[in-house]
Amino acid sequence: MSYMPAKSPRPSGGNPQRTMTAQLRALGNTVAILATVFMVLLVAFVWMVTAINKKSVKNSADDTTVTTTTASISEESTSDTVATDTSVPETTPEPTQNEGTHASYPEGTKLIALTFDDGPCEFTPQVLDTLQKHGIPATFFLLGQNVTGTDPQLLQRMLDLKCEIGNHTWSHTVLSKVDENKAYEELQKCDQALMDKIGQKATVIRPPQGAGLANPGLLKYALENREFCINWNDISCPADWQKPAMGDAHYTAQHVIDNASSYDCVLLHDSHKSTVESLDEMIQGLKDKGYVFVTVTQLLEATSDKIGIEEARAQGWTDAVEAYPGGPIYGVRYEYSSNKYFFGKKSY
Ligand SMILES: [Zn+2]
Repeated sequence: MSYMPAKSPRPSGGNPQRTMTAQLRALGNTVAILATVFMVLLVAFVWMVTAINKKSVKNSADDTTVTTTTASISEESTSDTVATDTSVPETTPEPTQNEGTHASYPEGTKLIALTFDDGPCEFTPQVLDTLQKHGIPATFFLLGQNVTGTDPQLLQRMLDLKCEIGNHTWSHTVLSKVDENKAYEELQKCDQALMDKIGQKATVIRPPQGAGLANPGLLKYALENREFCINWNDISCPADWQKPAMGDAHYTAQHVIDNASSYDCVLLHDSHKSTVESLDEMIQGLKDKGYVFVTVTQLLEATSDKIGIEEARAQGWTDAVEAYPGGPIYGVRYEYSSNKYFFGKKSY
């Protein structure tokens, strides 16, 4: 079949130009309708796509939430597992530095704290050797000016042997004879020397000669740095800096063994050779009498919860600051929450 447009049938009696115009109009209308339909469909499509996307995002967020929740549960489970694991040693009845006697020691346990003032010095390693031999701790009240010339390994060895390090001022200044600022500085300089050597301060303070407990500089420093202030009790201490103890190791040892009682805080000096030489006999004798050796902080923890200031006064005790020297109280613990005192045991 041949293509013969010229012979195509036309509307009868119509003007070809008018017919074409009408056709164009009809075509235009059709295009307009199709465009409108297209636009409507396009809008509908866009709306649907948007809706689908929103739903997808929401589902994604829900998934994240679920994942997070799952992770959270997983972490909690892990934490529970870890907590269960770590709770084992916590429930093990091992005495720790800050636990009181009720938690750490059976009722009736005889506790004693050996303390060494004025070091570190040439005999200090020998003291540590003896402590290590017997497997016991002690407390060293150090002078800052001595600390500066000491090998840090010696100080670290004290800590490794579970010993406690105390602040005995920088230069053995008697704090009852200086003003508040000087007392504060003496204690601060000693702690700074310790910080420089081992990165930690002392935990307890003993003022030289046990004097100056009423000095506001001492109290201020002790409170600010949470350091207990403790002296000693008299009768078990052999006064190793004078005769007859000085120079007589056997006398020194026997004096402590014969006069010790539970909760005693024994004053010694590692600067005295005879004291150092007395230690093996002294420690063995105390062990034979059933004593358990503790640090000063352990001793205070073991006694401070047993008696407070009101009870102490009711029993005729007086404040340490009023009582020393020669008074009935050997130690005082500052109670930081209330600024009240708790005392250690009564002396003789
Ligand atoms: Zn001293």
